[in-house]
Amino acid sequence: EAKEGGPGQVRLFEPVMLYARQLRREMASDLRRAVERNEFRLAYQPVVDIVTGKMQGVEVLLRWEHPTQGLVMPDIFIPLAEESGAILGIGRWVLRSALEQLAQWRNSGQDQDGFHIRVNVSPSELESMDLVDYVRAVLRETGAVPRDLVLEITESAFVGSGDVETYSMKALKALGVRLEIDDFGTGYSSISYLRRLPVDTVKVDRALIADIGRDKGQLEFVDAVHHLIQAAGMEAVFEGIETPEQAELLQDMGCCNGQGYYFSRPLTAEQVGTLLASGSRLPVATELVA
Ligand code: C2E
Ligand code: MG
Ligand code: MG
Ligand code: MG
Repeated sequence: EAKEGGPGQVRLFEPVMLYARQLRREMASDLRRAVERNEFRLAYQPVVDIVTGKMQGVEVLLRWEHPTQGLVMPDIFIPLAEESGAILGIGRWVLRSALEQLAQWRNSGQDQDGFHIRVNVSPSELESMDLVDYVRAVLRETGAVPRDLVLEITESAFVGSGDVETYSMKALKALGVRLEIDDFGTGYSSISYLRRLPVDTVKVDRALIADIGRDKGQLEFVDAVHHLIQAAGMEAVFEGIETPEQAELLQDMGCCNGQGYYFSRPLTAEQVGTLLASGSRLPVATELVA
């Protein structure tokens, strides 16, 4: 058909689509076995006090060492895992591994006061009835206290969130685990929900601060967002801080905690241990990469 372009285009287009679809199917089925095959590992990105550079905690970021594809990033496989339901098992593995790692840092005396870990939680995990019981059990088994843990829930999860999600959040709060809205400013949700949700911190999406060094209007807007979060009784965290200029502008705003490549890339557990033990402020001069 003329609408679909010449026959050459059709021939070129279809195999690519078929290949992409097949690749997704294969990846989805590989994902089901990835936990037992020990193909996942965790990276840890420091979250710092923007003014002092002191590490307050780390965000746990999942990595998949695929046997043939190599390193696969979460933006690729998390959506697949959500579709297939594999995310429930994967999420449990992440939570347990992260809290076990915290115990290791602690046992070797590398832990600092108030140091916490932040774990990303998918909407479907929040929807599952046994998340709260699992969190409680893993905290107990690893010797962590609820305040050691912040659960990051992406903003879009709150759009149209139902009874189970609300129940989970309230029960987690009651347990003493802290909750955070992740990627704030991207989920098309109304701001009235901010005051209603039982969350402690709001992580502003990196898209909002990308241009604050060049765009005065955007800087004022981000300042207003910061005030909005505080007015809702929550603390702001800024992600995606890539330049010293962005860090300085946020400091001038009287802000808060933040993370980004400027302070540190995601690190290995060993690198975090070294940082904890040395008490270094971020960014450190030496190049750290995980
Ligand atoms: P997120 O929770 O918003 O995590 C922050 C992402 O931004 C991470 O990407 C991090 O490496 C990246 N990042 C950090 N600093 C900078 C910066 O200065 N500039 C830029 N451009 N990027 C920065 P990553 O590790 O690829 O993770 C992507 C997303 O995958 C995460 O976004 C999170 O939504 C999801 N994810 C990662 N690990 C898990 C997990 O264990 N469970 C679930 N459910 N989702 C996860
Ligand atoms: Mg996050
Ligand atoms: Mg996210
Ligand atoms: Mg985010």
